[in-house]
Amino acid sequence: MSQVAERLVPFGESIFSTMSRLAVEHGAVNLSQGFPDFDGPDWLKQAAIQAIQSGPNQYAPSPGNPLLRQKLSQKMQRESGLVYQPDSEITVCSGATEGIAAVLLGLLNPGDEVILFEPFYDSYPACVALAGAVARYLPLQLPDFSVDWAALEAMINPKTRAILVNTPGNPCGKVFSEEELAQLAALAQRHPDLLFITDEVYEHIVFSPARHATLAAQPGMRERTLVISSFSKTLSMTGWKVGYVFAPAPLTAAVRASHQFLTFCSVSPLQAALAEIMDRLPDYVGELSQEYLQRRDLWCSLLDEARIPYRVPQGSYFVISDVRDLGHEDDVQFCRWITENLGVAAIPASAFYQTPGAGKGLVRWAFCKGFDTLREAGRRLLPLRKS
Ligand code: PMP
Ligand code: GLN
Repeated sequence: MSQVAERLVPFGESIFSTMSRLAVEHGAVNLSQGFPDFDGPDWLKQAAIQAIQSGPNQYAPSPGNPLLRQKLSQKMQRESGLVYQPDSEITVCSGATEGIAAVLLGLLNPGDEVILFEPFYDSYPACVALAGAVARYLPLQLPDFSVDWAALEAMINPKTRAILVNTPGNPCGKVFSEEELAQLAALAQRHPDLLFITDEVYEHIVFSPARHATLAAQPGMRERTLVISSFSKTLSMTGWKVGYVFAPAPLTAAVRASHQFLTFCSVSPLQAALAEIMDRLPDYVGELSQEYLQRRDLWCSLLDEARIPYRVPQGSYFVISDVRDLGHEDDVQFCRWITENLGVAAIPASAFYQTPGAGKGLVRWAFCKGFDTLREAGRRLLPLRKS
């Protein structure tokens, strides 16, 4: 095994693969891995079929289908007021997963430090390690996953290259408020060499009164922020793996340098299909949020029935419970136990922490599932009322 691959050994198998496999083995309702058990709209499938039939079916330009980049530029301007040049400031990649890798590999030097908030999405520490850089972890504070601003400022040192922010957050469901984004922008002013990376894949799954806004729209932040997102969640097509990165031209050049040798380009006909349907997105995402609100409220009411405590998420399609309140100290054992004995799979959220002891007892439920599936999972969890 190479030295680079060896850096990944401590991360083991992704918790998503482990728990989904266990769910299948035990016939459990799978609320672990975050993928919808329903597909995106038919008109999107039709656009993809059409694109495959008529082409393009050969490589797309490495930075992405030109029309899709143009539509992405319009989307960003409509939503945030920011103008990005399709030719030099927008890159289409193979899901946000590749976007994260391309950004971190394109920007980090060995020994650089990156600040990650805990709980983090699992690919961040792995990609930081691939780049030979060092992740520094700051746990968000329970119960509402707030930022300890003094601790964050104290972590910044001359080696700190970037801070990575995931909003709306997986797994915690936190949406950074306008005030918190302004705090980050103020911190940026005090540390002019820092870069900011935002992962906004749940940008359209946000529950009022929370509101999603990009950090890049804060004063002074556009020039030092890389915004990563994807269509996976927005269109309920996680297997399509088409993502995108907005960044000012010099930073985009770094991202493209790694992107072209990671995948070169994302799937051509899917990019073309997405370009075709982009004008429908504003209406569609309104409906999406409403539907997810119903799913969230249903799942929370089912947790109430099972007397499982939880924090209501402001965004994303995940709910976090602290099962120590139920007398279960170890989230890993708890998740294994409910999968094997009650037939419901969830993610032990300590997998999203590196700080020793942090996250213990936290469990993540994915509610991106059919209403009947959620009801069945709720029914199966009822025995917990007595334990
Ligand atoms: N970031 C976060 C926070 C995620 O939850 C996910 C996975 N759903 C990704 C990135 C990866 O997204 P994609 O499917 O576009 O690769
Ligand atoms: N993002 C999904 C989740 O959080 C999983 C993606 C994956 O399996 N890599 O569950």
